[in-house]
Amino acid sequence: MSEQYDLIVVGSGAAGLSVALGSGGGLRVAVVSRGVAGLDGATCWAQGGLAAAVGQGDSAGQHAVDTITAGARHNHKSAVRWMTESAPDVLRWLLAMGMQFDTVNGRIALGREAAHTFPRILHAGGDATGAELARVLREAAMRQSWIDRHEFADACEILKHGNQAVGVLVRNRRGEQMRLLAPSVVLATGGIGQLYRHTSNPAEADGSGLALAHVAGAELVDLEFVQFHPTALSPRADDPSTQLPLVTEALRGAGCQLINDQGARFMVAASSQAELAPRDVVARAVYDQLTRGNRVFLDVRPLGDRVRAQFPNFVQICAQRGLDPRVQPIPIVPAAHYHMGGIKVDLHSMSRVPGLYAVGEVACTGVHGANRLASNSLLEAIAFGKALGERLAQRGPVAPITRVDPVVGHAARAESTNDQMVLGRLRQLMWSDVGIVRSSESLQSALGQIQVLERRCLAGAPVLRQLTTARLIVEACLRRRESLGAHYIGGATHAHWSPRSGQAVA
Ligand SMILES: Cc1cc2nc3c(=O)[nH]c(=O)nc-3n(C[C@H](O)[C@H](O)[C@H](O)COP(=O)(O)OP(=O)(O)OC[C@H]3O[C@@H](n4cnc5c(N)ncnc54)[C@H](O)[C@@H]3O)c2cc1C
Repeated sequence: MSEQYDLIVVGSGAAGLSVALGSGGGLRVAVVSRGVAGLDGATCWAQGGLAAAVGQGDSAGQHAVDTITAGARHNHKSAVRWMTESAPDVLRWLLAMGMQFDTVNGRIALGREAAHTFPRILHAGGDATGAELARVLREAAMRQSWIDRHEFADACEILKHGNQAVGVLVRNRRGEQMRLLAPSVVLATGGIGQLYRHTSNPAEADGSGLALAHVAGAELVDLEFVQFHPTALSPRADDPSTQLPLVTEALRGAGCQLINDQGARFMVAASSQAELAPRDVVARAVYDQLTRGNRVFLDVRPLGDRVRAQFPNFVQICAQRGLDPRVQPIPIVPAAHYHMGGIKVDLHSMSRVPGLYAVGEVACTGVHGANRLASNSLLEAIAFGKALGERLAQRGPVAPITRVDPVVGHAARAESTNDQMVLGRLRQLMWSDVGIVRSSESLQSALGQIQVLERRCLAGAPVLRQLTTARLIVEACLRRRESLGAHYIGGATHAHWSPRSGQAVA
């Protein structure tokens, strides 16, 4: 079965819905999502906020400088500049759709976050910014008769005719496949956190969009740059869930200390800034404790009863685990949080495959460089998404797609228990060997094990998408021999690796 559109958007987070809404009504648009449109993906989980240099004394130029400093100067400077300059336009657009930002004395409140030199973080509902953003975008999309939602649908393959992307093969909940055809296909499938044992990302963020793009011939870049959040609530030993609630960094800002199970405050030895060191420094120190066999806790007890008033969400997530932060230290682990790398796109969000575009976390515009500045990802997703929708709308409706090449058969099968077992193994492997601290040996070992897992899967198994993405990440890690930004090589010397032979050669 086939359906014709002018534009297909895979993903209904901030990026995907901004593309769809940005196209403005002149096109017939399909939005494909794995869950309820607008309510799945990472967007609705975003807590911190949205960065925009709109405060007194602040400027897009200064926002760009902060972004490039955080990104270890690996950023694409024109993309950074374009994004920071787009912020006022993004805000006007969201406000016109009814987004309720937090205010002080009738003006939008601007919060300050680590590594931002000015207060420029807009919040909604305190730490519920993503939920409010998702509400606004979802409600706006639901009002448009020209947007068709394909919910609980899994995109299995990019359809092509010759070199051109011409649609997407999707599988619905009943396992039925359908061809959605259009001359413009946008991937907005989010991040990769679910490739790791511990992550802040929801189930949909499993890197499948990267595998789809790779099979379709798109170039993927900077895949080695994965940001880890230092403090997520540790799961119980018997809890298999991979998505963990974040423990806000503001607690450390309020004086709470990280301790191990001997009560030692290990951050004092790790950094002169102790608990207030940058995210990746804290994440590595916590990880170091875990690899020594210690457990790690955030000691919130000095805040006493004040924690209830100041951090009600934190108290609530602790209570759900039967923990009381007023009387006991709270167990934490680091968690895979954000992927800086992705499908290489230009300033117009175009990949190298004609007709195939990417926006949001799955794309690599080069904005984040080797490490993301907090609260820049929502801005990037909306700014680039909206602009792409507007640009595609200028072309107007197009002739129906009549010719499609035979499908490759990627993810053609239904998910099996074997897929789940392989995914569990992959997550452990990515966590231990391709995680916060990497070495030549750990990466080589991971590559070999992933290749074995790939050989053990039947052709068309859905988990092959995750294995493909994971393998591409490991290969990217092996190519980058020095530590940079979020890519940290520790311990053993990193040998040169030959992509042709797949062997370390020296
Ligand atoms: C806990 C948490 C807190 C965060 N806090 C902040 C913050 O304060 N500020 C900030 O800027 N950023 C924050 N981030 C990051 C930010 O939320 C994400 O980078 C951003 O929301 C990504 O948006 P997106 O539209 O690219 O992807 P998502 O919102 O993740 O949406 C992905 C979409 O793709 C769909 N999809 C995926 N694969 C397929 C497939 N194969 N077939 C069909 N559909 C598919 C999903 O169903 C979903 O609809 C946070 C992230 C997390 C997890």
